[in-house]
Amino acid sequence: MGLILILVPGAVISYLSLKSINDKAENLREKYKGTVSLVKDKLESAIFRKEANLRNAITDSSFKLENENDIKTWISNLEAENPVFINLFLVRNDGGLLSSFVSLDWNTFPESTFELNKKAAGYFNNAETAEFINKNYNEAIRLYQTALIHSTSVKERVLILSRIGRCRFKKGDYQEGIREYKRIIGMKNNEVTIGNVPANIVALTQVANGFKEMNAEKEHQEVLLELYSQLLYHPWDLQNGDYIYYLKSARRELEEAKLLNTTGNFNNPKIDELKTREHKLLQQIRFIESVHKDLLQGPVSEMNHNTSFRSAMFNISRNGYSNEPRIGFINLPETFQETKLLLLGYQFNKDYILNTLFPGILTSVDLGKDEMTGILGRNDSLLYMQHDQPITDYLIADDFSSMFAGWKVALFNRQGKTIEDLVGKEKHLYLILFSGIIIVMLIGTVVTVRAVIHETEVSRMKSEFVSNVSHELKTPLSLIRMFGETLDTGIVTDEKKRREFYSIIRKESERLTHLIDNVLDFSKMDTGAKKYYFEEADLVKGVKNSLEAYKFHIRENGFKIEAILPDEPVMLKIDRDAISQALLNLLSNAVKYSEERKYIQVKVEKDKDSALISVTDQGIGISRDQQKKIFEKFYQAPAAAEKEKQGSGLGLTLVKHIAEAHGGNVEVKSEPGRGSRFTIKIPLKPE
Ligand code: ADP
Repeated sequence: MGLILILVPGAVISYLSLKSINDKAENLREKYKGTVSLVKDKLESAIFRKEANLRNAITDSSFKLENENDIKTWISNLEAENPVFINLFLVRNDGGLLSSFVSLDWNTFPESTFELNKKAAGYFNNAETAEFINKNYNEAIRLYQTALIHSTSVKERVLILSRIGRCRFKKGDYQEGIREYKRIIGMKNNEVTIGNVPANIVALTQVANGFKEMNAEKEHQEVLLELYSQLLYHPWDLQNGDYIYYLKSARRELEEAKLLNTTGNFNNPKIDELKTREHKLLQQIRFIESVHKDLLQGPVSEMNHNTSFRSAMFNISRNGYSNEPRIGFINLPETFQETKLLLLGYQFNKDYILNTLFPGILTSVDLGKDEMTGILGRNDSLLYMQHDQPITDYLIADDFSSMFAGWKVALFNRQGKTIEDLVGKEKHLYLILFSGIIIVMLIGTVVTVRAVIHETEVSRMKSEFVSNVSHELKTPLSLIRMFGETLDTGIVTDEKKRREFYSIIRKESERLTHLIDNVLDFSKMDTGAKKYYFEEADLVKGVKNSLEAYKFHIRENGFKIEAILPDEPVMLKIDRDAISQALLNLLSNAVKYSEERKYIQVKVEKDKDSALISVTDQGIGISRDQQKKIFEKFYQAPAAAEKEKQGSGLGLTLVKHIAEAHGGNVEVKSEPGRGSRFTIKIPLKPE
């Protein structure tokens, strides 16, 4: 019951405090949630503002679709002014794409319809017959040259010159052939094509081939570099794959000519610029190709068929799993749509956003001094961290909207702690504290319960004591009275009998005195009023005197008594009466608790620093657990009580008190059924 009274409140307190800690965690979580969503809103609205800027720039531009290069420049400028976006590209309603460097499916009218003028065509056809069927290259060259005379446009001249160059190569006359091709290059016309390939690219390729055949290494290398730079700076449409083919072959030639080192970088430091350009271009080519392949079918066909869709700005996730931000599209205003342009597409510039835009905004957000923010990508990979610390555990994170699907804004504790860590310590402390309190409460309960049990026992013993003492008093009194009355009447005339009666009266009154002495002494001890009068005396003599007085009583009960005393006196500061009382108590117990073997030995001896008085009997003995208790007040062993040995339970208590008053103690050695030895030990020199 007591336990429940203590445990229940303890449990309730523990529960309440744990709950309050959980509430605290919840509050913290709410607080951090608020912070993180505030940060996220700021970041997102910054992006939206940048996008609005881009839209405005498009709407405001007085843009005319006249020249492909002009459009490319326009896109380049937009990119330069809006660094949040890269790889801007225009989307035409037929799916054609145009970015700042490259286009795909943008040229919808290829060269196939080109024809020479009639006169030139006559010579040209004959020349082709001479070249391909008769393999008469001199004749072919002559006919091509006549055709050249009749040519009327740059385009015709370029075509014919390339044929002459080819025939000279076929003849093995590379020097001359190269000259013909150089004439084409000298025209510096980027618009004219042979097939679908720009004429100067074809010409440069042939010149390079010529020098290679001639083993003119230096010239060969120079031309290769020129060819590659032309290819990088004047890419043509990616459709048919011609451009990619030329680019790749030129690069392979560069490698073969050892103009590239093993890591693929240009050996010549002067052409670092080519390297940068190549990198940007290849990156844009890959991007445009993947946009074309993966994404465009959806938005373009939707835009063409569903006009209401035009007003929407939408994002498409690239492959849906990469860490790249999504690609966005802005639908173009009416002015653009007249020229069949539907959309401006863009890619978020991840590096700029993470390294410039977001850090700039985050410094203006006022976080607690222990917190900082970071951006996480897929699988919580760290993309950006405010203070560049290697921390992986975040307090809380919030997903960006679809624009940056897979990205999260995360709030970190600067020491890398989680919410659990922050409240966990407190939780621990509380747990330890409460278990401590409960343990202390339990110990308290146990102690109290034991004290109560002990008190009950003492009060039980006390009442037993009262009844015992009354009995003890009554018996001698009634005997004294009875024998007194008998003697008084004078009817006992036999002298022997009368003596016997007197002796009984004396014995009983001695017993009575002894009992009353014990009770009185005990009550003095109990209240602390007992006084001892110490004086230098001979212990041996004291013991002898007490034995003398009690011997008669012992012998009368049929006991054999043996006293082993030293010859020299043992001088000590003692209270003689008290010592004698203690000895009498021990002797009286020995008599009371012996049965058949009626033998008592009293011994006084001296060791290094104490005097010992021992009383040994061969009586009923005392069990080990009883031995601890017999010195307690009122205690009577059950065995003794059973046998109705009369007693008060005070005797040994007094002995112990007396021994301790002399600075010593009393010990018992006993075995049930064999006997007991009580030894009072008194130090020779009391401290
Ligand atoms: P009591 O008045 O009952 O003798 P004591 O304080 O003198 O009270 O002794 C306490 C208990 O110790 C006794 O009840 C008895 O059981 C045990 N006891 C004391 N002396 C002896 C002894 N010599 N032999 C066996 N038991 C003893």
